[in-house]
Amino acid sequence: MTTAACAVTLALVPAHHTVAASARTPDKQPVAIGTGGAVASLDPYATESGLEILRAGGNAVDAAVAVAATLGVVRPYDGSIGGGGFMVLRDGSTGKITTINSRETAGSQVTPEHFLDPATGEPLSFTEARRSGLSVGVPGTVAGWQLALGKYGTMNLAEVMDPATMIAKRGFVVDAEYQARTQDNFSYLNAFTSSQDTWLIDGAAPKEGTVFRNPDIARTYELIARDGADAFYKGPLAKAIADAVTNPPVSGTSPTEVRPGKMTTEDLASYRATELAPTHSDYNGYDIYGMAGPSSGGTTVGEILNILEPTDLSGLSEEEILHKIIEASALAFADREAYLGDPDYESVPYKGLISDEYAAERQALITDAASAKPVASGNPWPYDGGAGVGLDLAANSPAGGQTTHLTVADNQGNIVSYTFTIEGIAGSGITVPGYGFLLNNELTDFSFDPKHPANAPAGGKRSRSSMSPTIVLKDGEPYVALGTPGGSRIITTVLQLLVNHLELGMPLPEAIAAPRISQRNTTSTELEPPLYNSPTVDALRARGQKVSQNVVMNNATGVSFLPDGTMLAAAEPERYHGGAAGVVRPTGAQY
Ligand code: GLU
Repeated sequence: MTTAACAVTLALVPAHHTVAASARTPDKQPVAIGTGGAVASLDPYATESGLEILRAGGNAVDAAVAVAATLGVVRPYDGSIGGGGFMVLRDGSTGKITTINSRETAGSQVTPEHFLDPATGEPLSFTEARRSGLSVGVPGTVAGWQLALGKYGTMNLAEVMDPATMIAKRGFVVDAEYQARTQDNFSYLNAFTSSQDTWLIDGAAPKEGTVFRNPDIARTYELIARDGADAFYKGPLAKAIADAVTNPPVSGTSPTEVRPGKMTTEDLASYRATELAPTHSDYNGYDIYGMAGPSSGGTTVGEILNILEPTDLSGLSEEEILHKIIEASALAFADREAYLGDPDYESVPYKGLISDEYAAERQALITDAASAKPVASGNPWPYDGGAGVGLDLAANSPAGGQTTHLTVADNQGNIVSYTFTIEGIAGSGITVPGYGFLLNNELTDFSFDPKHPANAPAGGKRSRSSMSPTIVLKDGEPYVALGTPGGSRIITTVLQLLVNHLELGMPLPEAIAAPRISQRNTTSTELEPPLYNSPTVDALRARGQKVSQNVVMNNATGVSFLPDGTMLAAAEPERYHGGAAGVVRPTGAQY
C-alpha cells in the first residue's frame, strides 16, 4: 500500500461511529430449511453476507470467507483478521475432506519462559499476560482465507470481502450482545488509545440501537482486497502490527502492567497457513472428521466418542448418559493434557489416541461410580503403530462466548465448518492503530509452565487449541456439519451435539438448544441451569459426581442435510441473544 493510496481511500470513507439507527438489521432466525445453500453464524449480517455470495454464484468456501469477514466487522471481539482459526471443508467435486490451519504462531524470539515474570521467575497472572503484547501471536486468518479461496473457492478476496467492507462503511445496528460485550471488556479496550478510538463512543460502549461504523477496517479490507494477503503480512500494515505488539499504545488506564511482546516484521512475512489431513473417527456408522494439528479438538472429540461407542446410549436414562459422558470426557482430557501440542514441534500419538483399541483400554476404567478427578492419562503410544505423528501431516502442503463458529453448505456438495477467534473476547485488547481490528491473545493458550511436555511456548510454535469444527458423513454423504466457540468447553459441547444428534436422534436445532454439561478432567462437572436444577443432578451426586452450575455455555451453529435433499441451518435460539440461520431458497418446511 502506498501512503497516497491510503489517503485517497480514507477520504472516501464516512466519518467514524454512531448515528441514530436508520439502517435495516437483517432478519434473524435460529432455524432455516431450504435449498440452494445454507449458512449459520452467530450474527444476521454475517449470515446475510454468506447468502449474498451464494446467490451470486459463489460456493461454500467463498461464502464462508464472506461470513467470516463480516463477523470481523459486526462481531469484532470474537474473531477477526487479528487472530486465527481452523476450517474443515468438504470439496464437493471430489468428496475429499481437508482442513486449513490458520492458527497464530509465536514470534521467532519467543522462548519457553515467555510467560514467567523476569523479576520473580513465577508465571504471570492470566489477566496480565493477556492484556499485553506478550499474548499476541502472528495472525493467521488472512493467510487462511487466501489459501482456502485459492484452492477450493471460485471467487477472490476482493469479491468475498466486499459485503463486509460495505457494512463497515455504512454501519450496522448495535444490538444488546454487542453493547454488553463492549461493556464487559471495557478494561481491555480502555487500556489502549487505539482501542479507545476505535471501539468506544465518548469513552463508553456504543448503545444498542445506534449505528456503528468502522472506516478503519473498511480501509484495511480494501487493501487486502486489492493486494491479497501480502497487504497484511508485508509492508506498512505488517509494520503497524509488529509495532503494536512490541510497543503497545497504552492509555495509562490498565490496572495491570502492560508488557511488550516479541514479534518482528519477518515473523509476519514468513507466516504460512497450512493444509492438513483431518482427524477421522468412525462412530456407530458415522464418519466424523475434525481438526488435527495444533488443535486438540478432533482428537479429543474422537477419543471420547470411541470410548462411548460400545455403549447403547439411546437405551439409557439421561442420568446414565451424562455419567458415561462425564467419565469418558475426563479420561480423554487427561490424555489431551499429556500428549497434545503443535505436531510441528512435538510428537503427537494421533493414531493411538483415536484408535478403538486404546479407547477400549480407557473404557475399561469406567465404573458405575464417579472416578476421583483429575484422572491420570493413559499410554496411547502402543496403539500408534510407532509412527510418532500418526497422521500424515508432513505430507500436507504448507501452501501458502469469544471465538465464533460458522457453518456453510452449497448445492454442489461443498461444506465449510469454520471456527476462528482472537481468543479472549476482545483478545489482547490492543487495536492496530488506524487499521480497525484487535490483536489476539492466542499465545496464552500455551502452558505458562516452560516444562510442559507438549504445550510449552517456543518461537514459531502454535499454541494448543480446542477448536473443533466438524463434518460428519454417513455412507459417504454429508450428514451434518457443526461447531462452537467456548475455549476447552468447545470439545465437550461438540461432543454433546454429536451425541444428541447422531445417537439420541434429536434434530439439530434440539441438539443445539439442549442444556449442556462440561467435564474437562477437573474435580467438578459444570451443568447449565436446566440440568443443574433437575432431579438428574441428585442421581449424579449419588454416584459421587461433583457438579457446579455454569449459566450458559457456548454459541453453536450447524447445518444438517435432511433425507429429502433440503438443508437445515441451525443457530442458538437463546444463548448469547441467539444466532442467525439462513438458506438460499426457503421451502417453508418444519423440522
Ligand atoms: N483460544 C481458544 C482455542 O483455541 C478458543 C477461544 C475460545 O473459544 O474460548 O481453543
